Amino acid sequence: MDIAENQRDPLTGLLNRLGLEAALQEFDTLGRRGLTLFSVQIARFGHINSSLGGEIADRIITLTARRLQKTFPNALHIARTHGDHFCLLFEGLDAVEETIERLDDFTRRPFAVLGEIIVLSVRSGVARMDDSLRSAGMLLHGSETALQVAKETKTRASFYKPEMEEQARQAHRFENDLRVSIVHNHADLHRALANDEFQIHYQPIIDCDTGQLYAFEALMRWSHPTNGPVRPDLFIPLAEQIQVMHILGSWVIQKAIADAATWPPRADGQAVGVSINISACQFIEPAILLDTVSRALDQTKLDPALVKLEITESSAFVDTMSETLQRLKDMGCRIALDDFGKGYSCLTQLHELPLDYMKLDRSFLKDLESEDPAKAMRSRKLIQAILALSGTFDIAAIAEGVETRQQLDEVRQMGAKLVQGFLYSRARPASEIPDYIKNFVPGS
Ligand code: C2E
Ligand code: MG
Ligand code: MG
Repeated sequence: MDIAENQRDPLTGLLNRLGLEAALQEFDTLGRRGLTLFSVQIARFGHINSSLGGEIADRIITLTARRLQKTFPNALHIARTHGDHFCLLFEGLDAVEETIERLDDFTRRPFAVLGEIIVLSVRSGVARMDDSLRSAGMLLHGSETALQVAKETKTRASFYKPEMEEQARQAHRFENDLRVSIVHNHADLHRALANDEFQIHYQPIIDCDTGQLYAFEALMRWSHPTNGPVRPDLFIPLAEQIQVMHILGSWVIQKAIADAATWPPRADGQAVGVSINISACQFIEPAILLDTVSRALDQTKLDPALVKLEITESSAFVDTMSETLQRLKDMGCRIALDDFGKGYSCLTQLHELPLDYMKLDRSFLKDLESEDPAKAMRSRKLIQAILALSGTFDIAAIAEGVETRQQLDEVRQMGAKLVQGFLYSRARPASEIPDYIKNFVPGS
């Protein structure tokens, strides 16, 4: 096939999207069958780009292109369709699973680029010519639809099915609604505070030793105009993906600090704190994060020691995060590492980040009551080890997801200082919190 200049990607020398489309059309003209197309995306490439810079990002793209060519000499074509998206076209490919395996392997080998060691992971969407995809021309759309599903379901690969079309349309509508809501709210933050579309619910955190109310965690809720309430696990990753999370995140900081400033003290006169989740995306522009917190504290005069910021592990940001967290601590705020034990590289973070609290991920507690005694025992040992670790580092442990009395007794015995879970209360609307504090009976 003759390839025109505008059909090549100048950075990698591979076909670009136009080139791939032309190649697929040519296969249709020639009546070629049995083609399989992989759409491959480098996961979290946006973070690499923003945290390590464009030069490193470009090198990763060129190295990835070269590795793909070496690893898949049997591919008919390899293309870079845009940004961090690559496509691999095969003919008569039986070993699809093996190809996915090899894609995994080749990205896991670290890249050494300009003094940085980077480990990538990829997601793939796979489309094969069959009854639902009769022409090569339809493959690109099919594999991209499947890739979208792989991203949403956080799986490494997904295979095209016709019913994905309706799911994709729904996801697109959902994304559009989220954009509209956020852009609308961003235009006027005061209106957003009065608007019901985004709300914060608060879940109590209890001191194990005294049975007293210690703080509330702010948990965001989105009431979708037609679908009703949407769980944060669904809309927060989407907000991060379409790069609007910093807007929502700033709103939560302002609103939660303002709410906490109006809460009555406990019966013994002590004030109750507030814990706010901060997305890794909010560390991309630390100045906005720091300014939002400091302005909210200034405006409300809330004691900064009552404000706890919850971060999740994200190895990509440890350096910038550490500096920003120190600035937040200098303002008087406290820092918690959320969902501890869910990801990896936890130990380095305990050591490198200026933490006051760590929240034991609730999956450990769930396993504690597993019917499989070996699983329950493993979970108990893990919790013990993690709580011992928190003691060594002088970081107070909060056990998340305490649902039963038995779980409470166990984690308390093992050294948790604070607990949070449905045993005490689910997250409640902001309007209920003042009465909840007034009526709270310690030890209950
Ligand atoms: P998270 O920060 O780990 O919050 C705790 C989650 O566990 C909450 O889910 C809470 O309702 C749930 N939970 C608490 N106790 C129990 C229990 O006993 N059993 C069970 N099964 N679940 C319990 P929710 O509200 O759905 O939030 C999910 C996640 O969404 C949060 O996990 C947090 O990562 C994220 N999120 C929520 N609000 C915000 C926000 O304002 N900003 C950011 N960046 N993330 C948020
Ligand atoms: Mg949290
Ligand atoms: Mg958590």
